[in-house]
Amino acid sequence: MRFRFPIISVALASVALTPLAMPLPASAQTVADSAREAVIVLRPDAVFDGETATLRKGWSVLVRANRIQAVGPDIATPAQASEIQLPGTTLMPGLIEGHSHLFLHPYNETSWDDQVLHELLALRTARATVHARVTLMAGFTTVRDLGTEGAGYADVGLKQAIAQGIVPGPRMLVATRAIVAPGAYGPRGFEPGVAVPLGAEEAGGPALVDAVRRQIGAGADLIKLYADYRWGPSEPSRPTFTEAEMRMAVEAAHGAGRQVVAHASTAEGMRRAIAAGVDTIEHGDEGTAEVFAAMKAKGIGFCPTLAAGDAVARYRGWNGAAPAPRSVQEGYDALAKARKAGVAICMGGDVGVFAHGDNAREAELMVKAGMTPAEVAIAVTSGNARMFGIGDRLGIVKPGMLADLVAVEGNPLTDISAIRKVSLVMKDGILWKGPATR
Ligand SMILES: [Zn+2]
Repeated sequence: MRFRFPIISVALASVALTPLAMPLPASAQTVADSAREAVIVLRPDAVFDGETATLRKGWSVLVRANRIQAVGPDIATPAQASEIQLPGTTLMPGLIEGHSHLFLHPYNETSWDDQVLHELLALRTARATVHARVTLMAGFTTVRDLGTEGAGYADVGLKQAIAQGIVPGPRMLVATRAIVAPGAYGPRGFEPGVAVPLGAEEAGGPALVDAVRRQIGAGADLIKLYADYRWGPSEPSRPTFTEAEMRMAVEAAHGAGRQVVAHASTAEGMRRAIAAGVDTIEHGDEGTAEVFAAMKAKGIGFCPTLAAGDAVARYRGWNGAAPAPRSVQEGYDALAKARKAGVAICMGGDVGVFAHGDNAREAELMVKAGMTPAEVAIAVTSGNARMFGIGDRLGIVKPGMLADLVAVEGNPLTDISAIRKVSLVMKDGILWKGPATR
């Protein structure tokens, strides 16, 4: 039964991950209205502000409506305010996922090809609402979602559904369809000329600029370009767009106030994307010292997506024992080179390749690859917020910022796995998970 109906069983398992006692509002709008007036004092053991590697013991946070009003050791509880006691926890900014695909589910359940070719848009969207919920409950209050992989502009609709309180989920920065050079992406293996669903929009030459504009007009918060990919099923990645093409796309996107993200794993694909002026590079497995030095010089962020490499290697039979397969080791080596060059590191796991809600997997692998827990804790909060252009309102616990807060059991500055033990989630001043107020 389970074997015959994998999709159904997986969906039920995902729902079961959600706490039954979750304070799901009868009407999200009612909660939003009451939150507009609410004053809440959160009393954890300590506060990690998201940018300083120091635990502030005995600090509390005062939230009024959807903003942080005060942070410090001497916060009195105003009359008519609620107070939430959070013993044993560290309160920190809502976590920010740097590379998600809410419209994908793990490839060991259904291959990427089959998801793109055979899953109905409504099925993928229904599933994405569940992914959004488990992501929020895992403490990730913002995601940068880097392409629907064939689900069109459904990310724009999901973002609206979350913003309107119809379904619970994180804030979303969406890439919509993403853009690939014609012929460079999958699914593959069909008679040439036959139209099949593709994982991204094909565009090149001058038409690339129009694709950028169309996606922005349809709701894209950022543009994703595939700077390299495998041209055939059994060959390595090679560059797809020319530097000039990417330069035009970046000019159009930046002119519209949108960042550009480049998928690039080859040194030459990265070099072209850097020269074209993209804002972040994803994967970067074959990046060299020279490539990372150029990224540093231009202030381009790096998202190593170690968790996706780890997951795919395990799907192919790796049990996690040393030595790691070459694909996994390459990711670690790229991160080491990027850090040596001083490149800003994004925390983004390519979640969707592996299970949504397991976002912390990337953070743990970043520590395994040599970063300190404090460096990763800063990357997943203020680091990602700054890199994605939302650092003026998210990623730091300080007065005036939006009230996206999570309480985790333990100290994430010394043990990054603490971010797996989330006991409170507040987004925009609304409490989605946590103990009762009093
Ligand atoms: Zn991805």
